[in-house]
Amino acid sequence: MNAPVSTTFSPASERLIIYTCEHAGNDISYLEHEGREMADSDHIYLEQHWGYDIGAEQLTRGFIERTGGIGVFANFSRLICDPNRSVEHRTFIPQSIEERPLSWNLGLSDNEVSGRIQSLYEPFHNMVDAEIERTYAEQPFLFSVHSFTPNYQGETRDMEIAVLFDQYDSEAALFEQLIARHGFQTALNKPYSGYDDLIYSASAHGRKYDIPYLELEVRQDLLQDPTLRQRVEQCISESLMRLLEMPGVFEAGGVATSVQASDR
Ligand SMILES: [Zn+2]
Repeated sequence: MNAPVSTTFSPASERLIIYTCEHAGNDISYLEHEGREMADSDHIYLEQHWGYDIGAEQLTRGFIERTGGIGVFANFSRLICDPNRSVEHRTFIPQSIEERPLSWNLGLSDNEVSGRIQSLYEPFHNMVDAEIERTYAEQPFLFSVHSFTPNYQGETRDMEIAVLFDQYDSEAALFEQLIARHGFQTALNKPYSGYDDLIYSASAHGRKYDIPYLELEVRQDLLQDPTLRQRVEQCISESLMRLLEMPGVFEAGGVATSVQASDR
């Protein structure tokens, strides 16, 4: 079995950021241990947005090159078990895609589910905990990086970059404005909402340690062209550093809810 989690580190000159990439990889080598029957026709999903977040790992590594910080990557496919869901969530182990049953998740025993949690899910989350605990004195900012498909089951998505949150509403809105100033089509809590328990990883770790957190979603086609991806990396990195430098940001009492005219 390949390593379920990997990490990277680069010295940070400003505020320390811990980047998490829950859907970095599409590895399914763990399934060899289960000895399960797998339909060849299901393998195509691993190469698509169903299997992992296309471009998200490269994007995260690009951020770390620009801002320094720590990266924690889940290398196993979300189709085995999803580290951005609670284990109780109905899509923690997805049963089907577009109403087609997923062969490697059919009829899992309790032991098999526990095995996936212990071998894949927990090592990822334990690593995030360990990095937060190791750097806690620096009050790290937790930033979960994802990508989404431009066309979801026939629905075309115009929005390019979104900031997701389940608290820190003002900071999320400011961050979105800062990114939008670079000319991107931005949104808040799209294509799904943080309030629907769908930014599980950032929220769980952030709340556990009471450190600030947000999640990012970038449309995949922006990440597949290297030149465009570098522009995305630069604009979001700059915006994030600007946000983290603002007085009162992520503190009780909060910040002004819009970027001031003088700041434009
Ligand atoms: Zn994702």
